[in-house]
Amino acid sequence: MVIRGWIIPPPKAPIKTVTEFEAERRAKARLLEAQGLLKSERIKSALLKVPREEFIPSQYRDYAYEEVPLPIPGALATISCPHSYPLFYEPLELARGHRFLEIGTGSGYGAAVAREVVGNQGLVVSIEIDPVTHEFAKRNLERMGYADVLLILGDGALGYPGMAPYDRVALTAACRDFPAPLIEQLKPDGRAIAPLVEGDRQILTLLTKAPDGVRREKLCAVLYVALRGGGSP
Ligand code: SAH
Repeated sequence: MVIRGWIIPPPKAPIKTVTEFEAERRAKARLLEAQGLLKSERIKSALLKVPREEFIPSQYRDYAYEEVPLPIPGALATISCPHSYPLFYEPLELARGHRFLEIGTGSGYGAAVAREVVGNQGLVVSIEIDPVTHEFAKRNLERMGYADVLLILGDGALGYPGMAPYDRVALTAACRDFPAPLIEQLKPDGRAIAPLVEGDRQILTLLTKAPDGVRREKLCAVLYVALRGGGSP
C-alpha cells in the first residue's frame, strides 16, 4: 500500500510487549536528539510519556516507532511519522501554558503529545474534518486519559473562534497558504506551522504574527496528506 509516496508496511497481528514498546520509544527519542530534531526537555518528556502504539490500529501497532505514516480509520487519514511531532513542535517553541490549536486530529497522538507539553495550565483544541477519524481520536484520547483535549468535528481551515486567541497553531495537512481565519485567531507574536504546497513539493513553513505583519520562514521539504474542505486556500 502507498500513501502519497510513502510505502506502508503490511498489516499483521501485533506481538510486541509493553516493555518492547517502551524500549523503542526511548531509542526513538535518543535518535531524534542525535539527529538534532529534538532539543527541548519538555517535548522529549512528552514523547517518552505518550505511548504512540495506543493511537494506532492493531494491525499496524508493531510499526509504531518506524518512520512511516500509518493508516487510521477514515478516508485519507494517517498518523504522521514519529519525527513529525518534534519537527513541528520545536520550531513552534510549543511550551507550558500555551493555548494550542491543531488542524487534523488524525489519531489524536499529536494532540496528546501537545497536551503533555502545554500542561494543565494550557489548552489543546484539535479539529478533524472526517467524522470516522474524529471518533477514532476521541476514543484513543479518552482511553489514554486525555479527557480535557477539546476535539471539534469540522473544517479546520475556519479555526475555532470559541477558544481563540491561540499562542500556537499546527496544520498537519498540506495547503496552498495559511488559512486567513487561523492567522486572525493567533495572538500577537503567536506562531503557526504548516506544510505549504509549492508546485509539486511541500515546504514546512513557520509563520510568526509580528506587529508589522506576518513573517514566513521556510524550514524543509515534507510530505503530508492534503487539507480538504471548502475553507482551504
Ligand atoms: N496529527 C495527526 C495526523 C493527521 S493526518 C496525528 O497525530 O495522528 C491529517 C489529518 O487531517 C487527517 O486525519 C485528515 O482527515 C485531516 N484533515 C484534512 N483536511 C482537514 C480540514 N480541513 N480540517 C480538519 N482536518 C482535516
